[in-house]
Amino acid sequence: MSEIVTYTGRYTADSRDQLLTKISKQLKPGRFAHVQRVEQTAIKLAKEYGVEVEKASIAGLVHDYAKQRPDEDFIAAIHHYQLDPDLVNWNNAIWHGLVGAELIKAELGIGDEDILDAVRYHTTGNRYMTKLAQIIYMADYIEPARDFDGVEKARLLTSQSLELAVAYQTKHTLLYLLENNQRIYPKTIDTYNAWVPQSGLKD
Ligand code: GDP
Ligand code: FE
Ligand code: FE
Repeated sequence: MSEIVTYTGRYTADSRDQLLTKISKQLKPGRFAHVQRVEQTAIKLAKEYGVEVEKASIAGLVHDYAKQRPDEDFIAAIHHYQLDPDLVNWNNAIWHGLVGAELIKAELGIGDEDILDAVRYHTTGNRYMTKLAQIIYMADYIEPARDFDGVEKARLLTSQSLELAVAYQTKHTLLYLLENNQRIYPKTIDTYNAWVPQSGLKD
């Protein structure tokens, strides 16, 4: 059963249906279905953790808005918005949140910095994450179609403690990247240092 949130106009001039139409034009069907599952997961978590449901819905729907854009769009945006110049040395995985937030602001007219930060940090996390950002980070990781070793543990932790769940994802994503000889974006390491060592996480 999906929950349809009625938007108030505070964060986007679009209705949810209008926003969905715009997002559907940016994404292939599988990715469009994913963002709707992330939205529903985020709405549930928002209710559990006392976060505004409308923000959770919008952030969930837009979090991967830029995922299927060509590299040139991200390079142009990094220059145009004078973002950290080192970003040009990275790739879609890092860009679609950190740079994608600027495309969402410009193209969808969503200016709420809490929503934009939740998009910015949904892949790498960040030293500071609002409760909304933590919810989007976790919803993306545990949405019902996710199926990987540890996802059940992540779902259980998310229902018990958002902070411990963020620590769990941060640690296990870093382990995964290391095991696969991937390049680690510095913010990913900052997130690890901020969230994991003092968390009390056991596994
Ligand atoms: P998705 O957009 O819903 O597929 O999920 P995410 O936005 O969370 O992740 C996108 C990809 O980024 C995943 O494959 C992650 O493993 C990868 N990723 C996250 N952090 C880093 C990093 O520091 N370096 C690299 N190379 N990839 C990362
Ligand atoms: Fe993503
Ligand atoms: Fe996603």
